[in-house]
Amino acid sequence: MQINTDLLQKISSAAARNLDSYLQKALTASAEHGSFGMQMLDQLHEKLPRTSCNDCGRCCNSVSIFSLEYHRLIREVMATWPPERLRRLVQSALRFDLRQAEAGKEKRLRCIFRDDESKVCLVHPVRPFACRIFGLLKEDGKRECEEVKDLNRPETVITQDYLVSLQAKVLENSESYRPFPDEEAIHFFPFEFWFFRYIFSPERALQIYREILVPMSTPLTKLWHKHLELPTAP
Ligand code: SF4
Ligand code: SF4
Repeated sequence: MQINTDLLQKISSAAARNLDSYLQKALTASAEHGSFGMQMLDQLHEKLPRTSCNDCGRCCNSVSIFSLEYHRLIREVMATWPPERLRRLVQSALRFDLRQAEAGKEKRLRCIFRDDESKVCLVHPVRPFACRIFGLLKEDGKRECEEVKDLNRPETVITQDYLVSLQAKVLENSESYRPFPDEEAIHFFPFEFWFFRYIFSPERALQIYREILVPMSTPLTKLWHKHLELPTAP
């Protein structure tokens, strides 16, 4: 499937006109969500080991997160960032076409919270499960990134089952949507999906997901390959 460039163009031009109202909508939605589930989420995040790596940022692409994690991120920046910085964040969320990147032969959407200049994650204390777990799960004895060091002594054994058990309560308390009609509803979507879900509507966000975010990201394209019109690149 090709990116729906008309839809992308519409979003980009609306971004300039409506930035402040979109910012307000995003902040209001997370303020109205309230602190429900936030403490639980923090406690579950803390159950994963502290890690270190060389912070190259290669893995900092838009990861799929729960709705609770989306609200946690927005509530954190709302509480700690000045208004102009929040405006820049929303501008970046709306102009996701400017965050397209290549990773080898694959396409990625850079994470909105990665500051490539200072090489930091701007929301490190509240980063989602997907970021915390990266490099900890071992497949065939190998980590996704060999630079990741588990700082716990002895090292915590992280398995897929342990992760699923940690996430069970978050899953119960997060929203889910069905991206394609003949698929089960899922709870994980990129930050951008949740952003558009709260400033527009779930239907609009699902259209953006299917027609822009999925074709823009090779991992998502692979995930939904059977629903797309064109084969993925070799
Ligand atoms: S986990 Fe690995 S790829 Fe990601 S920032 Fe750290 S060193 Fe880079
Ligand atoms: S939230 Fe932080 S750690 Fe996670 S992908 Fe974004 S920049 Fe990287």
